[in-house]
Amino acid sequence: MAAKKMAADQRELKSLKVSGARVHNLKDVSLEIPHNQLTVLTGVSGSGKSSLAFDTIYAEGQRQYVESLSTYARQFLNQMQRADVDAIDGLQPTLCIDQRVGVANPRSTVATITEIYDYLRLLMARVGTPHCFTCGSPIEQRSPDAIAQQLFELEEGTKLVMLAPVVRGRKGAHRDALSAIQKAGLVRVRIDGEVYEIDDTPQLSQRKNHTIEAVVDKIVIRPNGLTRILESLQVALKLAGGLVAVRYITPPMVDAQVSEDQWKEELFSTRYSCAQCGASYEEIEPRTFSFNSPYGACPACSGLGRANQFDAELVVRDWSVSPAAGAFAILENAQGKLKRDLKKRLQKLVVSTGRQWDQPLKLVKAGQRVAFMEGSGNLAGLRSVLDEFYAASDAETQSWLSGYQDALACPACGGARLRPEALSVLLAGKSMFDITSMSIGEGLEWLDGLQVPPDKQQIAQPILNEMLHRFRFLVKVGVNYLTLGRSADTLSGGELQRVRLATCIGSGLVGVCYILDEPSIGLHQRDNDRLIESLRSLQAEGNTVVVVEHDESMMRTADFLVDMGPGAGKQGGEIVVAGTPLQVEQDRDSLTAAYLRGDRTVFESREPAVRAPRGKLRLEAATLHNLQNVTVEVPLGLLVGVTGVSGSGKSSLFGETLIPALSRALGQSTLAKPGPFRKLRGAEAVDKLVEITQSPIGRSPRSTPATYCGVFDLIRTVWANTRESKQRGFTLSRFSFNSGSGRCAQCQGQGQEKIEMNFLADLYVPCSVCNGLRFNRQTLAVRYRDKSIADVLAMSVDEALGFFENFSKISRLLGSLEQVGLGYLTLGQSSNTLSGGESQRIKLATELARPETGQTVYFLDEPTTGLHFEDVRRLLSVLNGLVERGNSVIVIEHNLDVIQACDWLIDIGPEGGSEGGNIVAAGPPATLHQNPASITGRYLNPATLAE
Ligand code: ADP
Ligand code: ADP
Ligand code: ZN
Ligand code: ZN
Repeated sequence: MAAKKMAADQRELKSLKVSGARVHNLKDVSLEIPHNQLTVLTGVSGSGKSSLAFDTIYAEGQRQYVESLSTYARQFLNQMQRADVDAIDGLQPTLCIDQRVGVANPRSTVATITEIYDYLRLLMARVGTPHCFTCGSPIEQRSPDAIAQQLFELEEGTKLVMLAPVVRGRKGAHRDALSAIQKAGLVRVRIDGEVYEIDDTPQLSQRKNHTIEAVVDKIVIRPNGLTRILESLQVALKLAGGLVAVRYITPPMVDAQVSEDQWKEELFSTRYSCAQCGASYEEIEPRTFSFNSPYGACPACSGLGRANQFDAELVVRDWSVSPAAGAFAILENAQGKLKRDLKKRLQKLVVSTGRQWDQPLKLVKAGQRVAFMEGSGNLAGLRSVLDEFYAASDAETQSWLSGYQDALACPACGGARLRPEALSVLLAGKSMFDITSMSIGEGLEWLDGLQVPPDKQQIAQPILNEMLHRFRFLVKVGVNYLTLGRSADTLSGGELQRVRLATCIGSGLVGVCYILDEPSIGLHQRDNDRLIESLRSLQAEGNTVVVVEHDESMMRTADFLVDMGPGAGKQGGEIVVAGTPLQVEQDRDSLTAAYLRGDRTVFESREPAVRAPRGKLRLEAATLHNLQNVTVEVPLGLLVGVTGVSGSGKSSLFGETLIPALSRALGQSTLAKPGPFRKLRGAEAVDKLVEITQSPIGRSPRSTPATYCGVFDLIRTVWANTRESKQRGFTLSRFSFNSGSGRCAQCQGQGQEKIEMNFLADLYVPCSVCNGLRFNRQTLAVRYRDKSIADVLAMSVDEALGFFENFSKISRLLGSLEQVGLGYLTLGQSSNTLSGGESQRIKLATELARPETGQTVYFLDEPTTGLHFEDVRRLLSVLNGLVERGNSVIVIEHNLDVIQACDWLIDIGPEGGSEGGNIVAAGPPATLHQNPASITGRYLNPATLAE
């Protein structure tokens, strides 16, 4: 009774109430978030937004969910640490849509994540028409009743011979087949077109193909003859395993003397098998189209669509020179016996193509190269030679050779992932692969115009409705350019999140609390409104939506806005103000409010407004993905912004082509393969390339901010040089927690122990011996100014700056961490707990502390991810500092403040996918604003643009 009443109270709660949350830096936070509304959490990076949204609310939601599961699942419950919070009331079922790309696997695609694929499989199985996968003719599966009905509808008086095709064009004497016919009580048989008495058949040649058909019945069509047709049909179908051949002649020719070939003949099948060539299908079911099931997956690649194969671009270094002069990279890099063996095989190949080892290959044209690689006629190609060599090698050699392989489209299915049987089922002329090769936009258009045969309408319509529903949401969240078959592991974090969002909206759940992490990432300002609209529809369906966001329009549109801070880390962890956006805007203590009112701005203007470039990079004819033979010039010595709607080709052109190409030209990395391009000019003016990503700086607790930036090595020397260390014989290595005898033996210096969870992410708990200190007692006994080495790891950057002020090298490194806004960060915090933005800034700080060359190119992809106005302001000043010292900075960005602060913009588009892939405009922000072709230009604020 009491329990029932409590449940009722829960339901009546109109809000989610958090009381006394102390997770990470949260300072006893209490907050009430209204149900069924759109709430935005904001605040500077490190203020505690994620700690509240994910590590408190979502974590508790998970725990309550597990608690509701089976006893089996519950045994893991006490290992899930309870979030440090007094109480959370009014918690609805909680779902989190984050951007973790790590959970995506190559077996999931845009179509599978959105469940569109499940509907497609159903549609294909129910409405698709199978075609023979060997000869291509359409295949129909029909019931005996349907066949009988069709025959019965022939003109009255039609003469009809019903035959059971027992053997169709197979070699052999076929005695079994003949005796089966005899046993069935039939007396006549047609062999290779001639009719015989069953007791009087000729001897059949073993080595020839024969066709044997039992004559089951001769029928004249009469108004009361349906039963007889059906009975004979059953006999024939049984004898021939689902096939029946019917010869017939209609009046008035019946009575005339007609030749054999005036009779019509038709073959019917009740199985999915080709009546022409006999190739047969198993039942056609939804699983036939699943590339994650053995029934559907291409056997060669097990449904991955890609297979590791030798890649001509890696194997061959130069197509024009002679092998003796080093044409084959794979041979040049091989050593010892492997090199000798490989050389023998390659020599044989080269000679077989009519060339000489010491004469130039002269493989100039693309066609010639393909022939050399793949072979032609009966000449083996380089690929098959290497494949054979690989197959005959031991494991170690294979692993070396695999460095010259790349995951290329599977040669068996061409990347379609499915068996040929599955691919020969067509829907309005399209195979499953044809459909999944369409972009979401194209798919929607196709579905909208799809004509389903009337008799299939009833089955198809509900399936189509579900699909259309999902397609429309996907278009709404701005991912219309993604192809349906695109692997989830090639999507960016923002794309993946938006695809998942569309899936949630399509799911029709109500009464759920959705928590999202910065869904605007990677989204152009133009598409932001559509994103907000879709969040609104999720909420309007009766759900609570909580979004961690820094985007201004998202903040302004919220029902409830929460500003956290005031600072980061220890200086944060409080609710500064919460209320409607208007209430928040009026708050005098809130930093966010100051930006919303316009009292503070991220970027005002700079003197000079636009700097002068020194030289340029020029990349010619890039064609990766959607790039349309693009030639781009990037001025050096400036802050250069790359803009364009999502999917326009920014990453393809910069991240995947120009940057790797430059890195190769500088000799920095050899194996990262740039997308195709003709030429890169101007690299001489650059002497270093630094790419700063948001990827984690380390995935295990072994890596920390202090170890990553190198400051910990300097700090260790301080402890190794104390008198106490000298007395005990402790050297530098004693103070390392990654090796040596100084670390805690229990956790090997990790400070944490890993608990592997069967179905959840690994869990880390503090080490039971050192309690997270990472070192053993003897090491901890060594003190410098009364601090142990573990005490230093517990200091924030700011505290350490004070402590080490007399050590110039240490101060320099710590100072640069402070400069990028990480003064709050704890030196020994495990890297696997850092946010993407924090990781990025640690990398940036590490680079800043390096000796300057003044000729470095820095590349950053959406560096404002996770950053509040205030953080962006600081980031901009760091980037400008780099440029002031003569370096070049290239950023891919959507943040309008950053875009307007750039010296030069390169706008790609105009749209995403096949509608993009060109340079729309290039020049200082003001010129972009005046260019009507540029979508980005429309969003720039003329007031801040210098002419
Ligand atoms: P935000 O989401 O506002 O950027 P977070 O909630 O991620 O901020 O972080 C708040 C503070 O807690 C930061 O100082 C951060 O470094 C710290 N922190 C985050 N995760 C962990 C963790 N797992 N262990 C210890 N400290 C953490
Ligand atoms: P942006 O960086 O401007 O968002 P991208 O360069 O990522 O755009 O994408 C440009 C086009 O190339 C899009 O149509 C996208 O779907 C496609 N694309 C990007 N990466 C891949 C990939 N790994 N496989 C197939 N297509 C891709
Ligand atoms: Zn395959
Ligand atoms: Zn330990």
